[in-house]
Amino acid sequence: MPDKITLLPDNIANQIAAGEVIQRPASAIKELLENAVDAGATEIKLIINDAGKSLIQVIDNGSGMSETDARMSFERHATSKIKSIEDLFHIRTMGFRGEALASIAAVAQVELKTKRVEDETGIYIEVENSAVKKQEPIAAPVGTSIAMKNLFFNVPARRNFLKSNAAEMRHIVDEFTRVAMSFPEILFTLTANNQQLFHLESGSLKQRIVQLLGNNYNAKLVTVKEETDYMNIYGFVGKPETAKKTRGDQYFFVNNRFIKSPYLNHAVMSAYQEMIPSDSFPMYVLFIDLDPAVVDVNVHPTKQEIKFEDEKIIYAFVQAAIKHALAQFSVTPTLDFDLDASIQQLSSIQQPFTEERKSAASSGSIFKGFTQKHQAHFIEKNDKNELKHWRDFYESPETRVGSQESILKSGDTIPTHDTKLKTDGELTQLLNTYITLPSANGFLLIHQQAAHERVLYEQLKAASKDKPVATQRSMFPSTLELTPADAAIMQEIIEDLQQLGYTIEPFGKNTFVIQGTPADVEAGNEKHIIDILLEQYKHFSNEVKFSKREKLIRSLARQQAIKTGVRLTEREMRQLVNDLFACEQSNSTMDGNPTYLEFKQEQLERMFGK
Ligand code: ADP
Ligand code: MG
Repeated sequence: MPDKITLLPDNIANQIAAGEVIQRPASAIKELLENAVDAGATEIKLIINDAGKSLIQVIDNGSGMSETDARMSFERHATSKIKSIEDLFHIRTMGFRGEALASIAAVAQVELKTKRVEDETGIYIEVENSAVKKQEPIAAPVGTSIAMKNLFFNVPARRNFLKSNAAEMRHIVDEFTRVAMSFPEILFTLTANNQQLFHLESGSLKQRIVQLLGNNYNAKLVTVKEETDYMNIYGFVGKPETAKKTRGDQYFFVNNRFIKSPYLNHAVMSAYQEMIPSDSFPMYVLFIDLDPAVVDVNVHPTKQEIKFEDEKIIYAFVQAAIKHALAQFSVTPTLDFDLDASIQQLSSIQQPFTEERKSAASSGSIFKGFTQKHQAHFIEKNDKNELKHWRDFYESPETRVGSQESILKSGDTIPTHDTKLKTDGELTQLLNTYITLPSANGFLLIHQQAAHERVLYEQLKAASKDKPVATQRSMFPSTLELTPADAAIMQEIIEDLQQLGYTIEPFGKNTFVIQGTPADVEAGNEKHIIDILLEQYKHFSNEVKFSKREKLIRSLARQQAIKTGVRLTEREMRQLVNDLFACEQSNSTMDGNPTYLEFKQEQLERMFGK
């Protein structure tokens, strides 16, 4: 038997490794933008064609590279940013693994132009399949331009895996937004297919936020700023009224690196408690700066996770900082919060301050918050008790919820319109939210919003399968001006919207005209409806398991459903109940929550101890 093991040729090994760093155009863009930032550029231009599939080019006015460095930069593990393991713990640059350019050179045709200020001429290098094709001196401005063409030209399997241009464009705008957000002092432009989508002059963080996320945040931002010797936080949170139904505008940066942290997100959300509805999301752009030694950046660069040495204190710090900020702007009297016992016991809080730490920290009000009582920004006790009782009740076998499974398991009444349920029974509305309907030996408590969502969902689904929903042309078409990110989404859903009765046409850069809506949409309200629709769509857009059409239907159902708190007439209730029980799956909403609960008289009696 011959030996079996062979060494993979370099270019193949590089292609495989590239898969980790470069999954799509947006990931290459992130790497190139970060390199430009690391090179100290004050101006960074991003140019793309075909959603990055045919061209991605980043031009910067940073340090540039020497001839040797330019050649070296495409080698795997070639980096100027660390020299020893020890350096890892002090890393302040965005990159440090020396993998990006090697990966890019393995899966695209790359043209590099670079020149340092001290060099007479610049250098031009062409690389393909990890091999240098051409190298020659050229005249060039100081800085670096890297163009990568035909991404995955040599890896068809990956190329085929790319999504539609609209979808890739959204990833690109997301990535661009994150980098541009964290460096407001740098000028950024983004040009796609010869059209300039962003031109972000250098300025303050506040200006950058408004440039990127829209003018409606202007005058609605609350400054967050707390400094201690352990960590700093600065940035902005939206006033409660700017909270949206989707978590779109939420940005956390740790040492200027964008991260996703459900844990820290929770800290922010909890600071907003009682100020915004529980199903809405506040806007925030927050920068946390910590000694790099207490953050593990050695998680993979493409993963936006992070490990902190002491998560709890960071949670408490973030929560307190936001509460403090909100309390300062708020006109309502501040509430007293108790310091959470578990946080109080953290050694970092109990430790007496040394004289030097004291003076360093005394400027930051946050530590006062940890040590003085009756401050607005005291950490709230995490008291979920009330909720827990409700959950116990809800989940106990005594109370049966309207989910198919639990109803079927119990074996008796299956409440559908043709069995034991009389939809002609007396209907009462409670709290402008629930409708009671008598059932065999008790009653159903129907949630009007959940029920209507189910009804609309099934109706829209039926409509989208058959002939399109009838459109009513608007007498006065209204124009929609969207942010570039939203415009990309609109492009993506415009055809499906047509099927569902919305005629929307592109009208120049980021602008659309609403030509028609389904007949039942009130005139004058179209714009608002599309706004909410986009919000809802974004809300579902992380659900990879849904098709575009499905996301849209869900968004529409959610948006158009009767809300809680709306008084219904007897006729409206009757209509809703009839429609609900005509549904294929009347007992749950599209995301699996019950549309009604059933209460049996015997259960109620037992609960009263009878
Ligand atoms: P890393 O950023 O992790 O060091 P990269 O593969 O992204 O690795 O880049 C390799 C090296 O090439 C960098 O360390 C840097 O020295 C150099 N380099 C890359 N891009 C630029 C740029 N735009 N300007 C100057 N130097 C650059
Ligand atoms: Mg890099």
